Amino acid sequence: MIKVTVWNEYTGQDHPEVVSANPGGIHAVLASFLGEETDFKVRTAILEEPQCGLTDEVLENTDVLLWWGHSAHHMVPDEIVEKVVKAVQKGMGLIALHSSHLAKPFVRLMGTTCTLKWRDGDYEKLWTVAPYHPIAEGVPECIDLESEEMYGERFDIPEPDELIFLGWFSGGELFRSGCVWNRGYGKVFYFQPGHETNRSYSNEHIQKIIINAVRFVAPTIKRNKISCPNPQPAMKTEKIKV
Ligand code: ZN
Repeated sequence: MIKVTVWNEYTGQDHPEVVSANPGGIHAVLASFLGEETDFKVRTAILEEPQCGLTDEVLENTDVLLWWGHSAHHMVPDEIVEKVVKAVQKGMGLIALHSSHLAKPFVRLMGTTCTLKWRDGDYEKLWTVAPYHPIAEGVPECIDLESEEMYGERFDIPEPDELIFLGWFSGGELFRSGCVWNRGYGKVFYFQPGHETNRSYSNEHIQKIIINAVRFVAPTIKRNKISCPNPQPAMKTEKIKV
């Protein structure tokens, strides 16, 4: 079983268009379709819970953490951020969704500003540019999203280890919409669709990408702790005749 935790800041519930786009919150919508996968064990966590719902017990029992944040990035305490970063470095997978490009754990793991251009309400064509990649398995070459927030370059990220999706927007902009990085023993996937007033997470192809991504970033091995050992020599060099 892959242990999945879906984290959402869960704000904006006073806006009817936010509530109607993703009833019960984005975490509930994501957990609903992820929970249909028989090899996933899914739980949710939100900002207002103690320790943002990300206690040591939760993080130790998470193989893949999905993160959706937008207006409350600053409310996540640095102590929690550091625990998430360490968990990734030890092997936990992280999927940063949409406006989580500015979520503190993602920015920490990237080491750049992660800024971009944005404008609400464009039409998007999401192109699969690495159809051989496991995250693109069963995904069409092009997905049409009737309404999405435009995210445009330059996206100030380090060069991705793998670029899987490119977004084109009706305003003319392009965006690196699906990228993978390796960080320590862990993998990070950033995926652009998912503005809070749009229904992208109800799109079957977007769901397929997120399901594939969970399997891809799930750890093959996890470290127990991060250490910097000072070992004895691996061999006795006096036996080597020069
Ligand atoms: Zn947005």
